[in-house]
Amino acid sequence: MPIYNFSAGPARLPKEVMEKAQSEFCNYQNSGSGILELSHRGKYFAPVMERAEQNVRELMNISDDYAVCFVQGGASMQFAMVPMNLLNGGTADYVDTGVWSAKAAKEAKLFGNVNLAASSKESKYDHIPAQAEWKLTPGAAYMHITSNNTVAGSQYRVLPKAPAGVPLIADMSSDIMSRVFDVNDFGLIYAGAQKNLGPSGVALVIIRRDLLERTSDRVPTMLKYSTYSENASMFNTPPTFAVYMLALVTDHFKTMGGIAEIEKLNDAKAAKLYGYLDSTDFFRTPVAKADRSHMNVVFRTPSDELDAKFVKEATAAGLTDLKGHRLVGGCRASIYNAMPMAGVDALIDFMKEFVRLNG
Ligand SMILES: *Cc1c(COP(=O)(O)O)cnc(C)c1O
Repeated sequence: MPIYNFSAGPARLPKEVMEKAQSEFCNYQNSGSGILELSHRGKYFAPVMERAEQNVRELMNISDDYAVCFVQGGASMQFAMVPMNLLNGGTADYVDTGVWSAKAAKEAKLFGNVNLAASSKESKYDHIPAQAEWKLTPGAAYMHITSNNTVAGSQYRVLPKAPAGVPLIADMSSDIMSRVFDVNDFGLIYAGAQKNLGPSGVALVIIRRDLLERTSDRVPTMLKYSTYSENASMFNTPPTFAVYMLALVTDHFKTMGGIAEIEKLNDAKAAKLYGYLDSTDFFRTPVAKADRSHMNVVFRTPSDELDAKFVKEATAAGLTDLKGHRLVGGCRASIYNAMPMAGVDALIDFMKEFVRLNG
């Protein structure tokens, strides 16, 4: 029986990638050493780091105006690094669309003024506030959004643009490389790798080079973006295994035909799953239709008891990790790039049978 793991993160990785990593684990390219045992500056690992950056640039069509960096500490450390490097006592606009964006805003308050430009917290983050209602600060240091809300299950289906001169910053942890967009619309993009790009242990940061100059000399070396951009993310020992896995995952994305092809598949998976959920009264989906995430599909059965039964029986049927986030309960199916259509089909078949027996 195939297992389909719907975890929100760390999440399923492409099977081909897992097998490739297994084959190279103990003896990387006949070096006699495993990938974990090789010097980060040696002849085997250095090209891996270069390939990871090159793949990211190619897949996302990133120009030389941007630095591509690999940073430890996850997306949560970016919540602090962004304001530490770019706020300088000014005011930043944050759009609050879920628990992660709230956490990002909370960290920013440690370094300057935060203006909550809009929030959907009052309605349990069931939608993305319309851009026309955002209360933006003239001359803000930057504007911060969370492109996909992993816990609430909402997503900017159309990414916003910031006012002229204001850098747009996005936490794309749970939808990076899931769809095509123009990096040039952003000042900085960050993403923890463990949703769509690889294992935990590394965050990808893409930053417009002119912003690197904003950072005060008083910011610690390891928390400065320029330390990463000036040293090809090798000022100190990088998370070699996580970067190696990210290189393999992005190699795989290229063989899938790049992000445009992956996006088509992601749209088709989401359309099928929401299509089924909409076709029955048994399941409820809390998020406004226009703002539904194509990555994290959040739903509920008629009761908490049935939610628990659904998750338990699905697990026994090989469909694992469908429990909703501990803060919101219910159920959640994360269908990142590595989830094949067959996984979505298996989930829908299971749902139909569950409704037949419990509806
Ligand atoms: C998972 C997640 C985070 C937290 O990532 P860590 O790498 O665990 O710090 C932040 N933002 C979003 C949108 C996420 O999905």
